[in-house]
Amino acid sequence: MAQRDYVEKDYYRILGVAKDATQSDIAKAYRRLARENHPDAKPGDAAAESRFKEVSEAYSVLSNADKRKEYDEVRRLVGTGAFGGGGPGGFSGGFPGGGVAGGFDLGDIFGQVFRNGGNGAGGGFGTPRQTRRAARPRGRDLETTMTLSFADAMAGVTTTLRVSGQATCRTCSGSGAAPGTSPVTCPVCSGSGVVASNQGLFSFSEPCDACGGTGRQIPTPCPTCHGTGTEDRPREIRARIPAGVKDGARIRLAGRGEGAPAGGEPGDLFVNVKVEPHPLFGRRGDDLTLTVPITYGEAVLGTRLTVPTLDGPVTLRVPPGTPSGKTLRVRGRGAPAGRGRGDLLVTVELAVPRNLTKTQRKALEAYAALEDGDALRERFAPYLDAAPVGGDQGV
Ligand SMILES: [Zn+2]
Ligand SMILES: [Zn+2]
Repeated sequence: MAQRDYVEKDYYRILGVAKDATQSDIAKAYRRLARENHPDAKPGDAAAESRFKEVSEAYSVLSNADKRKEYDEVRRLVGTGAFGGGGPGGFSGGFPGGGVAGGFDLGDIFGQVFRNGGNGAGGGFGTPRQTRRAARPRGRDLETTMTLSFADAMAGVTTTLRVSGQATCRTCSGSGAAPGTSPVTCPVCSGSGVVASNQGLFSFSEPCDACGGTGRQIPTPCPTCHGTGTEDRPREIRARIPAGVKDGARIRLAGRGEGAPAGGEPGDLFVNVKVEPHPLFGRRGDDLTLTVPITYGEAVLGTRLTVPTLDGPVTLRVPPGTPSGKTLRVRGRGAPAGRGRGDLLVTVELAVPRNLTKTQRKALEAYAALEDGDALRERFAPYLDAAPVGGDQGV
């Protein structure tokens, strides 16, 4: 049964029973409606047939205790607007009975809500079957940007990042308890962080007020942080940026974000890496790219080219008859990638000179006289019979 149906269909109304109807009431209502609308009783009546299907579907959910419980929870969440606005996929449109916006999977959202069961202070909710732990407060994630030279990005660097904001309290190491004392288990919730509250058919878990959902109490608060476990101080964080890091990479330093309230875990620090461009080398994945101009003579006759790499010059052979734009691969001279290296992709580009010396011009004219451009463009000939449409075009 799709949970989308749970949102859109009021099974209680379909069966004409109250929300707290007993199993026997539900069964009675179903039997009556099924009899009235059965295809055997009303052959050829399409409306009755669809009503019969609707009634059967409603009964299949409400007659099953587990399914009914899930249905009720979904309807309750929708009714309380638990999906208003911020949820993944951006829920909008009227519930219940209204259309569902977009084509996203409701199952994802419900799956999330059921799994999280109200992590943190907000909206505690769960079924008695679920085992729950005290909410562990978490520090905020921090984000910073660093710019690396191309060379540093290739080699990898260890750097110091300056971060401000809430940090784990140094006096109590984040426990919130004065030195020499310890937090104690909350007597109200026995450390679970939640208390049960009975509402209607089954019980919900709510965050414990006595301990704020942490499951712990602090009899003697730390004098520095007054029990919060964090203090506002700038910090310096050593971060190792791996060799071969790409421009736009986002590196996560687990636990290096803001400190959490007493007993919690710190957030993460995200480092957004920018890499300055290199005057010669480009980058394509783990490969480096390099464009090398060559002369017409070098392209036609072939040559040996000495080109720079990250590790020093290498010489590569350009075979005779190499066309402009041809890419030659120098293996293992690209960016560091894990344990290996990418390749260096050398693209040769035919340089056409704009200015020639007298001697060059003479030599080239002599050579050009031996060339046959018309033969080169032979396949155009059949299309050149018609009358010309104008004089010189183009630049
Ligand atoms: Zn402290
Ligand atoms: Zn408690």
